[in-house]
Amino acid sequence: MASSVIAQAADYTGPLFDTHLHYNQEAWDGNTGPFPPTEALARMQRNGVKAIVANSRPNAGTQTLAAARETREAGVTVVPFVRLYRNRDDYTSWFRDETIYEMVHAELARGTASGPYRGIGEFHLYESANANGPVAKKLIVLAEQKQLAVLAHVDDVAIDLLMANAPSKGRALRLIWAHTGIGGAPVARVRALLERYPLLMGELSYRPGLTCADGKLCPEWRELILQYPERFLVGSDTWVNQRWSSYDELMQGYRAWLGDLPPAVARRIAWDNAADLFGVK
Ligand SMILES: [Zn+2]
Repeated sequence: MASSVIAQAADYTGPLFDTHLHYNQEAWDGNTGPFPPTEALARMQRNGVKAIVANSRPNAGTQTLAAARETREAGVTVVPFVRLYRNRDDYTSWFRDETIYEMVHAELARGTASGPYRGIGEFHLYESANANGPVAKKLIVLAEQKQLAVLAHVDDVAIDLLMANAPSKGRALRLIWAHTGIGGAPVARVRALLERYPLLMGELSYRPGLTCADGKLCPEWRELILQYPERFLVGSDTWVNQRWSSYDELMQGYRAWLGDLPPAVARRIAWDNAADLFGVK
C-alpha cells in the first residue's frame, strides 16, 4: 500500500535497524512460502531497514537470509542470532532440554554466510521461574562468556533471575528485553531495571502503553526514553506471516513516534544503539 510508506513531514526519515526479526519456516518454507528472500528483503528495502537481527524457527531461515545473494544486493546487514527452537514444541521446554544446548553449540560452530552468530534468542519464558531451568542457566553463562547478546521475551521477574545466573551477576550480560515487558511491567519498574543493569536494552515491539494519541509516545514513555536514549531499540517481531504482511505499517508506526523525539535521540533508537552494539557501519 503505497500511501503507508510515504513519510509524513515530521516523521523520522533515517535508517532503521530491525532488532527483532524472525524468518520462520512458514514465511519462506524452502522458498515456496509467501515471503521468500526477495519478498522479505523488498519490505526491508522500501522501509529503509538497513540492518536486521535475524533469528528463526528453525535456524535454516536465518541461514538462508544470511547466505542469499538478494540480501547483499539489497544492502541489508544480517546480524544472526541462534534461535532455541527447532519447532513449536521447543518453546515450552527449551530451558531444560539438553538437546537444545547441543544444537546451540553446533549452530555457533557452524556460523552463517553473514559471519558468526552474535546472540541467542528470541526465547520465551512463560513462567519466570523457568529462568532457573538447567539449560537456561547454562545458556546464560555461555552467552556472557562468548559475549553473545540475549533476546529474551520474559517478564520483569525473569530479568532479575536471568541476570543473577550470569557470572557477572548481570553487569556484563548484554540482555535485550524483547517488548520491554509485554505483560506491561510499570514504567517505574522498567526504569529500575535499566538503572540496576547497565547493559540491559529494551526492544519496543508490542509494548503495551508505549504509544497514545496520533501514534506518538505516551508521556511517561517519552520521559523514560529521553532519560535513557542509549538503551532502546526497535523491531518488527515477524513471529507470524501477518506481521510480514503489515511490515510497512509497523515501520511507519515507528517512524511516526520517532519523529516526535529530538532528531539525535530518534536516530539513536532507530539505528545507532544497535549499530554500536553489533559494530555495523
Ligand atoms: Zn518475537
